[in-house]
Amino acid sequence: MGATTLTFATRSGSQAHDGPVADYPALYIGGQWVAPTDGGTMESIDPATGRVWARVAFGGKGDIDRAVAAARAAFDGEWGRMPPHERAALMRRFADLYRQNVERLAQLETRDSGRALRESRADVGMHHNYYHWFASLADKHHGRTIPMDDSVHAFTSRLPLGVVGAICPWNVPLMSACWKLGPALAAGCTVVLKPAEQTPVTALELGALIEEAGFPAGVVNVVPGYGAGGAGEALAAHSDVNKISFTGEADTARAILKTGADSLKRYTFELGGKSPHILFADADVEQALNAATNSAWTLCGQSCALGSRVLVERPIYDRVVETFASRAAKVRVGMPLDEATHMGPQSSADQLEKTLRYVGFGRDDGAELLAGGKRIERESLAGGYFVEPTVFANATNDMRIAREEIFGPVAALIPFDDEAEAIALANDTAYGLTAGLWTQNVGRAHRVSAKIQAGIVWVNTYRYLRWTTPYGGFKASGWGRENGLEALDSYLDTRTTVVSTAGTFPDAYAS
Ligand code: NAP
Repeated sequence: MGATTLTFATRSGSQAHDGPVADYPALYIGGQWVAPTDGGTMESIDPATGRVWARVAFGGKGDIDRAVAAARAAFDGEWGRMPPHERAALMRRFADLYRQNVERLAQLETRDSGRALRESRADVGMHHNYYHWFASLADKHHGRTIPMDDSVHAFTSRLPLGVVGAICPWNVPLMSACWKLGPALAAGCTVVLKPAEQTPVTALELGALIEEAGFPAGVVNVVPGYGAGGAGEALAAHSDVNKISFTGEADTARAILKTGADSLKRYTFELGGKSPHILFADADVEQALNAATNSAWTLCGQSCALGSRVLVERPIYDRVVETFASRAAKVRVGMPLDEATHMGPQSSADQLEKTLRYVGFGRDDGAELLAGGKRIERESLAGGYFVEPTVFANATNDMRIAREEIFGPVAALIPFDDEAEAIALANDTAYGLTAGLWTQNVGRAHRVSAKIQAGIVWVNTYRYLRWTTPYGGFKASGWGRENGLEALDSYLDTRTTVVSTAGTFPDAYAS
């Protein structure tokens, strides 16, 4: 494997050090690195070894109260009064610092989540573009002028919502934080960021970069902690939080809604998916197969956008089955920090157990296990949560492996006979996050994509994302959008001001 011991820069609050166990003893609240008041220390497990690699402070309700108070003070104070172009300049400074730290952040992301370094680098290496693009929007959310009558007109103003609670998942911690911080800061909001309990480290590193960029105290606060019954729930319940931007499971979103019901806050929910990846026989099959195999195993299958239901038109079904089986054998599963590794471990023991459970469901429900399906226990990977890239052939859309989000590297190959059946299968799911389709028939590309119930449909490509393009789900895949102008909009409120220049107002009771 590559480096097992990283050298961590010593930072003002995160106090990381050389050695196998990194120490992050402080939360970032109100511009200070502070000890938790009612939290403690959580251990972050390296999923490649199953051993503790970092000890991290976690906060409880009292720490969330402090963080929200700091975020409110910043919103009502220096940040709220700061001209938008100055906020943009701070965001650009942060984006540049982020870019300078890409390699370090990517290694930390890999260490915390198990994602192969080559993937972390490619992902984290893009994030500065998101921050720069949102910085460019910070002084461009203007209102409109609306004529009403001769002497009366109205204008609208776009106002930041206030304090945002950003609750992130463990599969893409830095990307998820980036997708929330970018638009929230561009809108003029302040943020309390709560990373997932499995991956708390990079959020604290973000706090250190926020500090280095020179943001006023309290604009961004970072409080690692537990979700249910902990910091996450406290944030969702808090009456002074104006919006929760949440990425995670649909059931957690339901719990968050119930918790926050009394406060009537706003929500963006980025939830799960069970995305159809449709391969028509008239596609450039080689390219389609490149995309379909890649999207089944990227992130060790722990991606919301995973094309885990591969719908294949019957004439190319055998070729697709053979290619999936042969490529599964070629995926280099290994230590995630190794440059050569394609696929690292699953992010946690729970996730490994869940994936293996679903392999059992696939077998029980009658799908044909074509490749993989087992934990990898060779000596060099001992202790880690490694699983083989897995392929089921002759799956049907009613099987549990095709209906429920596994979040493991498990592809279900489902044959279909015609366009109508492909569309019906694609939409026969509780989710509606993403979809892909491959065809060289331009009429079919438009016809089918128009009928797919998903927030993003890729035609002759897959998982192609930019900061400019809205991302989010239909149905149980979420509410609202991240990225694009839509994301900025979701952190703004509208005030309408109606102005009369007539100088008179009739007395309704004169006669
Ligand atoms: P999760 O279990 O729902 O947790 C997400 C976050 O919510 C974590 O920080 C968690 O804290 C917190 N949380 C849990 N219960 C809470 C509660 N009652 N109140 C407030 N916060 C609470 O999701 P996950 O397992 O981390 O992530 C995987 C899921 O995210 C998958 O469904 C995946 O599809 C989805 N996802 C969607 C997108 C997208 O853009 N649509 C992107 C990435 C991931 P703890 O860690 O302490 O539990």
